[in-house]
Amino acid sequence: MKNILFALLAAGLLGGCALNMVTGRNQLSLIQESELQLMATSQYQTFLSENKALSNNNSNAAMVDRVGARIANAITKYYNDQGKNSVLQGYQWEFNTVDSKAVNAWCMPGGKVVVYTGLLPVTQNETGLAIVMGHEIAHSIAKHGNERMSQAMVQQLGGTALEVALAQKPQQTKDLFLMSYGVGSQLGAMLPWSRRQETEADQYGLIFAAMAGYDPREAIPFWQRMSAAGGANQPEFLSTHPSDETRIRNLEKFMPEALKYYTGRK
Ligand SMILES: [Zn+2]
Repeated sequence: MKNILFALLAAGLLGGCALNMVTGRNQLSLIQESELQLMATSQYQTFLSENKALSNNNSNAAMVDRVGARIANAITKYYNDQGKNSVLQGYQWEFNTVDSKAVNAWCMPGGKVVVYTGLLPVTQNETGLAIVMGHEIAHSIAKHGNERMSQAMVQQLGGTALEVALAQKPQQTKDLFLMSYGVGSQLGAMLPWSRRQETEADQYGLIFAAMAGYDPREAIPFWQRMSAAGGANQPEFLSTHPSDETRIRNLEKFMPEALKYYTGRK
């Protein structure tokens, strides 16, 4: 099945590739982003009804809100200034902090973000949190989830349209969605981000944190702490990560560009 897909793609018979405006790369995208955003809205609500989100009075939740809003504002301005406001079309940001031991965070299409409290001992401070939220938001706006979900739809559901899949196999389709966005650790299986996606999320995440006024140089000690914390419960950013040395080397390579956007706390 996989080979057929790649043969079709190579022959240009499948019109499912689109040039991504963030990464500048042709990415498989068989699903409308607006459909994914709609699905995200309902799955986000379901997730929040089944998990304990902290109130905004909690200082950690307030910090997650603050970091999220700063990153969202900075990248909205950046893409608007570049005439690429379609990158964030349909985004209605929401940030929630969920009480859980999991060392995890994710961002669904349309800007629906969750940070787990288990991540906070590793981020240690607001800048560390900005590094990891920048990374997750970068996966979302680079449409990595669409790329992953499209591949899974072809491989597991025969390439049917999302609405058909939802009507015929609602549970399987919802599970694929959750796994595509890193929400599915509780499903016992995660669709891995590719190394390329992971490296892109590191690169753009670094820039987004810098644009929001957070020192991107903090990314190096943060990822070192993260790699030391990786145990049996591997979060998405470690499950398929580039090796720790490769990740740090890449971050050092991306650092000069990120620092151009860093002008200190505004
Ligand atoms: Zn990642």
